[in-house]
Amino acid sequence: AAPVITLDGPGGVGKGTLGRHLARRLGWHLLDSGAIYRATALAAVRAGLALDDVDGLASLARELPLRFVEAGDETEIWLGDERIDTAIRTPEVGQWASRIAALAPLRSALLQRQRDFQQAPGLVADGRDMGTVVFPDARLKIFLTASVEVRAARRLKQLMEQGSSASLATIAAEIAERDRRDRERSVAPLVAAPDARILDTSALSVAESSRVLEGWVVD
Ligand code: C5P
Repeated sequence: AAPVITLDGPGGVGKGTLGRHLARRLGWHLLDSGAIYRATALAAVRAGLALDDVDGLASLARELPLRFVEAGDETEIWLGDERIDTAIRTPEVGQWASRIAALAPLRSALLQRQRDFQQAPGLVADGRDMGTVVFPDARLKIFLTASVEVRAARRLKQLMEQGSSASLATIAAEIAERDRRDRERSVAPLVAAPDARILDTSALSVAESSRVLEGWVVD
């Protein structure tokens, strides 16, 4: 099977950015598993499903017409014939995603969809349970951490680059609430795999963090 590197950690810790750099550097595929949960949540709300309708959500997840299209430097995310890259990045969709992500049948329904990304020459997979549940045999498991303050500041910068805004306090509260939900849920809780290497990125730039990760890859 193609080799896998997993990159797990809480929201705003830099998984997306660092994962993209690492995948590009290696020439491997990239799985943004959070985007799958976000797209499912968005589709569910649009379909009028309640966020605790376990059966409805699981069948929606199985049939979701979701596609990731690698287009040059970026990955386009399509739901049917609509591009949803921006629509799924709002804090609101993040909250919905973390609520449905606590449901075991929903997670099972998304499992194979995620494993299908394991293709030659290799895969960098980012999320919460990549190393613990989805790819337990990954060649290298990385778990990123950073303080809530630092993560909120990074999210704010991202949102502003996309033309939206919010206060730092609002974002910090949103991140803290999602963290708590992701850590306390009974299925696939956010936790480092026992064999993961842990990096605290609080005081590191993207370039510095990337250098550490690349060092681990060649180890
Ligand atoms: O990483 P991102 O912020 O896009 O993830 C949104 C939400 O999806 C997370 O808060 C988490 O609840 C859920 N998620 C998950 N497992 C993953 C990826 C994301 O439960 N592998």
